[in-house]
Amino acid sequence: MKYYSTNHKAARATLRDAVVRGLAEDRGLYMPEVIKQLPASFWDEMAEMTFQEVAYRVADAFFGEDVEAEALRKIVYDTLDFDTPVVKVEDNIYALELFHGPTLAFKDVGARFMARLLSHFSPADGGSEVNVLVATSGDTGSAVANGFLGVEGIHVYVLYPKGKVSPIQECQFTTLGKNITAIEVDGVFDDCQALVKSAFMDKDLNAHMRLTSANSINVARFLPQAFYYFWAYAQMLRLNAGKAFNLTFCVPSGNFGNICSALFGHVMGLPVKRFIAANNANSVFYEYLQSGEYRPRPSIQTIANAMDVGDPSNFARILDLYNRKDIQERLGFSPLPNRGGVRGGAPFIDGATYTDAQIAETMRDCYARTGYVLDPHGACGYRALKEQLRPDEIGIFLETAHPAKFKDTVDCILGIDLPIPEKLQAFMRGKKQSVPMTKDFAAFKGYLLKQ
Ligand SMILES: *Cc1c(COP(=O)(O)O)cnc(C)c1O
Repeated sequence: MKYYSTNHKAARATLRDAVVRGLAEDRGLYMPEVIKQLPASFWDEMAEMTFQEVAYRVADAFFGEDVEAEALRKIVYDTLDFDTPVVKVEDNIYALELFHGPTLAFKDVGARFMARLLSHFSPADGGSEVNVLVATSGDTGSAVANGFLGVEGIHVYVLYPKGKVSPIQECQFTTLGKNITAIEVDGVFDDCQALVKSAFMDKDLNAHMRLTSANSINVARFLPQAFYYFWAYAQMLRLNAGKAFNLTFCVPSGNFGNICSALFGHVMGLPVKRFIAANNANSVFYEYLQSGEYRPRPSIQTIANAMDVGDPSNFARILDLYNRKDIQERLGFSPLPNRGGVRGGAPFIDGATYTDAQIAETMRDCYARTGYVLDPHGACGYRALKEQLRPDEIGIFLETAHPAKFKDTVDCILGIDLPIPEKLQAFMRGKKQSVPMTKDFAAFKGYLLKQ
């Protein structure tokens, strides 16, 4: 399978090159040329399958041409050694709990898959070490660092905004040592992302070291996120025991990698009626749906900080997907203008945006009525379903992280003392090590050239 760039200027790449490069030379994002539909037999058997079996079939459709069956199966089975259960919160509203992995957030899925795929590809060229650069607004750093920890031939640099991630998040990537280096940038998330992007484009750096990205722009990170949407559907099939249902997924969104993988799932045949992208106060996508104009701007800090993104990178993928003829034909919608395009098309996407005060109110309300403890990100998803779910729909919102990752915020809002899972306590016992950095690219480049 070949991968093209959303900017359509760079040459098409193999899967291996797309994974190693992360971003195409023309700064576009890689897209698979073909998005296969899953065969009828898959849908017939799905309700009897395990998560790993479902995921392997989806992975085979994406990567089967480029990775031998046994190797791919092993990568999928190793990646998913934890469950992503669908849990009922109240009538017609379910949480897809994505926080049962090693760092208690959904990014574990993509990060673990990518680490394994990259190390599968690396030995073949017997070359030098691969350096993974990753910018994080919180959870990416921990998921990527832990996904790659101890993987031979790979060094990871995690760039994070100083003082803007929670202490619990910070300890999950600053205490690991080994092949993981944490870089503490005096700036906001977008500055970290800009440093990473500039590094990839820099000739001197690329001559000096092999660089790759593990942000959600990497195809090996974002495509595997489709796995759990299929698994959620399989679980709903069992719960509904043969009765038909209309499924709406509500995805708390920042860089839009997660919802983008859901759209890919839909293109592969996953029966979803509607998607809702729930934003915090960083409402660029929401405003795009309203006005048809995409106006990126600097991110603002919120209590759902992993969604503090002012210029979502995967927006380019969403536009590209909606403009593809093969997909328009398959899903039966007509070509879309760029302005307001997503709104008019199928699959249908709605939006929502919530202030910190609304997020807090939602967490309190849900806890009081149902006993379910939402994290601030999941709370955006839950609220959008409460406000927008139609009577003929079943809604699943993604609980993207364990609430204990935001313990101070959650305790303060709910007036409780949330227990910290042992997995998190173990990180908190480690010693922080980080490299201070300004947001100036010359300084970052100088540092990397010395490595
Ligand atoms: C990364 C993250 C998000 C946003 O996901 P995107 O794929 O960037 O849209 C939401 N919630 C949590 C907890 C996250 O870590």
